[in-house]
Amino acid sequence: MNFSHLKPYQKRCFVTDSADLTDKDIVVGFYRTLEERPVNSAKALEQWLLDRSELDAAVSQAGSILYIRMTCHTDDKAIAGAYTKFIQTVSPAVKPVHDRLNRKYLELCAKFPLDAKRYEVHDRAIKTDVELFVAKNVPLQTEVDLLSQEYQTLCGAMTVQFSAKGGSASGGEEKEYTLPEMGKYLLEPDRILRERAWRAAAERRSKDQDKFEDIFDRLFQKRVAMAYHAGFKDFTAYQFKNYHRFDYTPADCKRYHETIERCVVPLNEEIFKNRRKEMKLKTLRPWDTAADPLGRSPLKPFEGPKQLVDGIKKIFKRVDPQLGDQFNRMDKEGLLDLDSRKGKAPGGYQNTLSEARQSFIFMNAVGVDDDVRTLLHEGGHALHALACAKDPLVDYRHGPMEFCEVASMAMELLGGRYMEEFYNDADTKRSNREHWEGIIHILAWAANIDAFQHWIYEHPDHTPAERRQAWIGFYEQFGGKFIDWTDLTEVKAYGWHRQLHIFEMPFYYIEYGIAQLGALQVWMNARRDPKKALADYRKGLALGGSRPLPELYKAAGIRFDFSESIIKPLADAVYQEWQKLL
Ligand SMILES: [Zn+2]
Repeated sequence: MNFSHLKPYQKRCFVTDSADLTDKDIVVGFYRTLEERPVNSAKALEQWLLDRSELDAAVSQAGSILYIRMTCHTDDKAIAGAYTKFIQTVSPAVKPVHDRLNRKYLELCAKFPLDAKRYEVHDRAIKTDVELFVAKNVPLQTEVDLLSQEYQTLCGAMTVQFSAKGGSASGGEEKEYTLPEMGKYLLEPDRILRERAWRAAAERRSKDQDKFEDIFDRLFQKRVAMAYHAGFKDFTAYQFKNYHRFDYTPADCKRYHETIERCVVPLNEEIFKNRRKEMKLKTLRPWDTAADPLGRSPLKPFEGPKQLVDGIKKIFKRVDPQLGDQFNRMDKEGLLDLDSRKGKAPGGYQNTLSEARQSFIFMNAVGVDDDVRTLLHEGGHALHALACAKDPLVDYRHGPMEFCEVASMAMELLGGRYMEEFYNDADTKRSNREHWEGIIHILAWAANIDAFQHWIYEHPDHTPAERRQAWIGFYEQFGGKFIDWTDLTEVKAYGWHRQLHIFEMPFYYIEYGIAQLGALQVWMNARRDPKKALADYRKGLALGGSRPLPELYKAAGIRFDFSESIIKPLADAVYQEWQKLL
């Protein structure tokens, strides 16, 4: 992956062009210059902010490129080493100087007040960061970042020897598969093949289960210590502030869990019951939840990443010609890495290259329906970043996560109206039906993951056995009880190991629930008036992070709300769409 062709969005004014921003002394040198610069007017203060923003963006992009390369080649020592070096040297070195600059900014603001509305969100974030900063936490954060990398490497290295030949009969020539590739077999109509594939992947994961436990325990201890150092009695309160969650509380999240249990889990049960009936099974086993319930072969939307990209280009164009052009450009500039290969980290993500103000998309596509939805999703994130790329402040060129996921999930729904670019009529219906099921599922899964994390950090003295018990409890509460895990209790108890967020971004998951509700509102608006819905959606995206969360939602024509009055009607509407496709 080479990014040397990417030019800065605008010419640098402060940072020298040839500066190596992976070198900590050089980076810190630039920050020092800002720290020492005298500022004597509001105008000079704004210029100071812009120069800082230019530097922040350039350093962030240098780190992003190393991260992208590492996730594309977790098995390449030199590439992994370059990323490790960055997070061990540059990241910790800039944190104290960031803090000093933040303090300097707050002092200067008091002397030379800036436009209060323009800087409202920016200043609130700076004040919070100053409040949370403790020098003692800098080395701990580095250790956390390294452990996260260890988690990625462990996941990326897992492969199984498997033979799909002969269907249900094992034997035949074995091949090495990544675990994302193995997921493909769960879509096969042959139940015994599915079971073999599921068990092979589960066995491979269980080989490393102690390593996952150990990584998590170490992450957990460091996080609790960081909260403590910052003067918080628990990690939950610390992390809510750290994520700048100004508009909702842990109590609101718990209300979300309760509402989901009452209004969404019963719909989930109906969906599972229907599946069991269609599959003519007594119980649904873990390998029965993804295959087509009527025994048809898996949907094959495309072969190879090129076909995937071409189809998505057409969809974006139909949603909005300008969005289509933007996606085209990403492809031309080599900003898509989509196929699953050994050594690639799991999952998919979009990453913003802050200085070029461009987006990169990473995926593990294997040719299934989900890949199309994932690329629409990550494409939504990419278009969001491009929509707000004009803002001179780097902090305003990305929204809060609770809104970023509206951008991406709404794109799954807006783009999902044109799935015929990949399918005939019958397959379009199948794909959409799966998507509606997936939405009910994600609303419940977000509650499951979030409730589990609240429990973890509310019980800092828990044992690994208690944690397994707690996981099983939440898993069953939010829909897992409809699956038959006979003889697989241990695999079930470690099910959370697969959820990367729990390791790398604690408490980052409720966002998917909140944002799904936002995306569904965009979709409801589009049913009434597609043009206006799209225009509003783009208005919200263009604001980036420059306004508080409720205002971003309002600009997009939707409400920031995850109480029952929003959840119930939306979940019921999704359920009705699903029923229409039975
Ligand atoms: Zn996303």
